[in-house]
Amino acid sequence: MKIVFATSNPHKLKELNEITSEYGVKDIEFVLPPAGFDPVEDGSTFEENSLIKAREAAKLTGMVALADDSGLCVESLGGMPGIYSARYADTPKARIEKLLGAVEPFENRRAKFVCAMTLVDGSGEVLFADRGECFGSIAHKVAGSGGFGYDPVFLVDGKCGLTMAELSESEKNEVSHRGLALRKVLDHLANSLQNNPQG
Ligand code: IMP
Repeated sequence: MKIVFATSNPHKLKELNEITSEYGVKDIEFVLPPAGFDPVEDGSTFEENSLIKAREAAKLTGMVALADDSGLCVESLGGMPGIYSARYADTPKARIEKLLGAVEPFENRRAKFVCAMTLVDGSGEVLFADRGECFGSIAHKVAGSGGFGYDPVFLVDGKCGLTMAELSESEKNEVSHRGLALRKVLDHLANSLQNNPQG
């Protein structure tokens, strides 16, 4: 079964396909939306934005579509950058620098990555929606070269002081917000394919 994944971020598509095959799912293939996919993410929550993206991809393709909306929420910053994570500053490096500066005055460096996922049918009707969260704290300096975005400054709970960018791809997928959310979607798809094998 082909499902369009509503993203223009190649890192996310790569992670999604890795998580899917690591979970032992062989009959689902995620594909990118066609050129012209440019949703207006004007929702006020991760859930609203993921629904906007999923519906845009379904509208363009007529296919079952999955979208995620994700970001980093920092306790001492009242949940910022949150849904603005991708737009917090102009470049990935500038975003990290701005974040480290903003958190600097606070002792509390607790944070979490959030990923809301929404699955819609070809007409945009919601089939399933859920979220995954990964807890940790903001490091004082960057470390590691894996992953993307804020990974080099996110110290993952239970990983002995390593940042997300210092984990291997499969270690990240096991604990990440995206991994947790996607496995819920895959469980839902497996159940519905079992109950309705014609698809
Ligand atoms: P989205 O593409 O609108 O969901 O924006 C997500 C933004 O949140 C990305 O551009 C990153 O800045 C950040 N983000 C989301 N997931 C991750 C992750 O797994 N690692 C690091 N940063 C992430």
